Amino acid sequence: MRIALGQIVHETNVFNPLSTTIEQFKERDLFFDEAVIDRYRNSSWVLGGMINYLEEKMNVVIVPTIAAMATPSGMVEKDAYEFLKKELLKRLADKRPLDGVLLSLHGAMVVSNNFDPEGDLVSAIKELLGKDIPIVVVVDFHANLSRRMINNVDCCVVYRTYPHIDTYDRGREAAEIIINIIKGDFKPTFSFIKLPMAIPGSFFKTREYPTSKLMSFLEEIVMDDNKVINTSIAVGFIYSDVPDATFSVLVTSNANKKIALKWSQKIARKAWNMRQDFLKDLISPEQAVAEALLNKKGLCLLSDGADNPGGGATGDDVTVLRALLDAGARNSSVGVIADPESVHMAVAAGVGNIVELNLGGKLSSKNSEPISGKFYVKTISDGNFIYKFPLFRNLPGKMGLTVVLVLSEIEIIVTEKRIQVSDAEIFRIMGIEPRDRKIIVVKSAVHFRATFEKIAKGGIWEIDSGGLSSANLNNYSFKNLLRPVFPLDKNTDYYEI
Ligand SMILES: [Zn+2]
Repeated sequence: MRIALGQIVHETNVFNPLSTTIEQFKERDLFFDEAVIDRYRNSSWVLGGMINYLEEKMNVVIVPTIAAMATPSGMVEKDAYEFLKKELLKRLADKRPLDGVLLSLHGAMVVSNNFDPEGDLVSAIKELLGKDIPIVVVVDFHANLSRRMINNVDCCVVYRTYPHIDTYDRGREAAEIIINIIKGDFKPTFSFIKLPMAIPGSFFKTREYPTSKLMSFLEEIVMDDNKVINTSIAVGFIYSDVPDATFSVLVTSNANKKIALKWSQKIARKAWNMRQDFLKDLISPEQAVAEALLNKKGLCLLSDGADNPGGGATGDDVTVLRALLDAGARNSSVGVIADPESVHMAVAAGVGNIVELNLGGKLSSKNSEPISGKFYVKTISDGNFIYKFPLFRNLPGKMGLTVVLVLSEIEIIVTEKRIQVSDAEIFRIMGIEPRDRKIIVVKSAVHFRATFEKIAKGGIWEIDSGGLSSANLNNYSFKNLLRPVFPLDKNTDYYEI
């Protein structure tokens, strides 16, 4: 049994002014052929789950193709996407015969001339290999699932957690499903419903109500009905601003369309009825800092989810840092501000010296101006670390040249590359133990919870700094989102798209 393995992962925030080129994939992950297996084997990533599962099976040959991933950012340039697609299709053609194709995609990529590249990709693979070769894909919980994509795959498995801590398990699940399809034991039949809900992804924490309740319902269906193979929801990524950036329900049954339809409608109705409960209030940076300073319980964690590089934002907004400075906060650390120019100037000044900088605020939203001042250069690092965060466990993290600067007793980690602070390791490799600080600011909306939640004894504040991944929808002018849509259009009635 020969099963091909491939990956193209990008989450596109079209509000980020910088487009994404092939260089951003090379900087993060771009591997070909056997190097794909060497890179991901034993990692907690989707491909790690797929590879480990397939290697445990007798008579399965893994046929690696390409694996590409870039940090979420602006629109992907046409040339970059076309290159990745061509390299993947070329390998699939050359390495025939194949019995199936396993893909790891994000599902929220946008290419400059294409709102639905994942749909385009899987239909090109179907066309190349024919309808008898099954394709099973794993996509992110924030995927903008399209009907074109769903119609061209045999099964689609969506992450079930946010923070995404089940990527390895979903990789294994997809590998098991494709083997069952190839053996003839599964004949997947699905029901796919899209709802007119475009709610910020950061509101769907799967360990908290109401999403936890919805996910339990999905689990119960699979446990109780043995005709159901998979139940999934994908909440969409509104910052892609594409028509498919809405809430999707996908139920896959074993050759029973009626069963799939019944459960998908029940899930869709339940989700729709919860729509108001998904919405959350955000807090201003000033108010969050004021409350944290009064807090006596321990480490206070301020989540700057509005400038989250993991949501495609620029990562150089200094609004929350300014609020800390204005309030006279001490014993506080900010991680991380991406500003290569400032890093290079600090490195040139050297450890133990003072450097005059205009820090951050260079690319981010209109309301963030740089912070000008004389910064003390405390630490310089190559910025390399190994993730402990369950999404990327055992994979290398690369921040580029990284410095710790100090201004008014606030430590600021400044990097060459944009990175989401999803892992407390980012502070620790820079010599900062978060537990010892009064306030920590992280540029992350939800993923940070996997490693920070337990140590944030003082609590967590979710801030709207006005960055490019803000959950405050009033900050954006959407051009291509489907309308009417909840919550932008308050009186939207239930309809299935
Ligand atoms: Zn996601």
